[in-house]
Amino acid sequence: MNAGAIAAHSRTDVAVEVVAETGSTNADLLSRASTLEGPTLLVAEHQTAGRGRAGRSWLSAPGDSLTFSLAWHFDLPLQQLAGLPLAVGVALAGALAACGVQVQLKWPNDVLKDGGKLAGVLIETQASAGGIWAVIGIGINLRMPDELEERIGRSVAGAPWLAQMDRDALMAAILASLAAALSEFRQAGFGAFSARWNRLHAWQGRPVVILDNGAVLHDGIAAGVDDSGRLLLDCAEGRITVLAGDVSLRMRES
Ligand code: ATP
Repeated sequence: MNAGAIAAHSRTDVAVEVVAETGSTNADLLSRASTLEGPTLLVAEHQTAGRGRAGRSWLSAPGDSLTFSLAWHFDLPLQQLAGLPLAVGVALAGALAACGVQVQLKWPNDVLKDGGKLAGVLIETQASAGGIWAVIGIGINLRMPDELEERIGRSVAGAPWLAQMDRDALMAAILASLAAALSEFRQAGFGAFSARWNRLHAWQGRPVVILDNGAVLHDGIAAGVDDSGRLLLDCAEGRITVLAGDVSLRMRES
């Protein structure tokens, strides 16, 4: 992939870097956060130690996925970034739809295609003078080889349509959509995204459970998200709101 082509196609002022291989693009940008001069995109053609939430791993096969991180500075308190992973999901869905691939969103941070996980988002932050650096890590499956699917052991998806697109143009389209969404998020917060998120909600009206370390914390019907990105859950005791934290959402097995 070519950093110059990505930057030119994206029409943003984000600095773009491409490396052939690294452990984790999130780890790389986080370690450099104090010296970054502006928004920075780091693309790895192969990521060997991709991270998920709570120490989980993001696996990818070389050449079959798009793995990158975008570092973005916010002059906002940390609690106002709670809805950021969801806003990023909306931006990704918009960019992919423009490329001809329809996706849905699973709370809090997954992008699904035909029910399988197509992309994951992991945001890590670092305090800085005057605000916070958010490092937004994204992995998108383009092709999903059987061997990788077996290793992941969960319902996954690929997008062969995206796999045959020019990689730099695809990356640039996603970068442009993310940059626009992050500016909007800075101005208006997650409230500006909640209606769009709810229209893309994969599990609206479905029976679900919230798991904390494998134990069921709540059980109810998924009813979308509120203006701060909390999940609305209709339980026997009434409607509750769930903060993302480290909990997991699963479909209830009947
Ligand atoms: P949960 O569903 O519990 O909320 P999560 O969304 O927090 O999980 P992440 O931490 O975002 O999960 O992503 C890591 C998980 O994604 C891994 O534990 C694995 O199950 C799954 N995974 C890893 N690599 C891939 C991939 N290439 N495609 C799809 N899913 C993957």
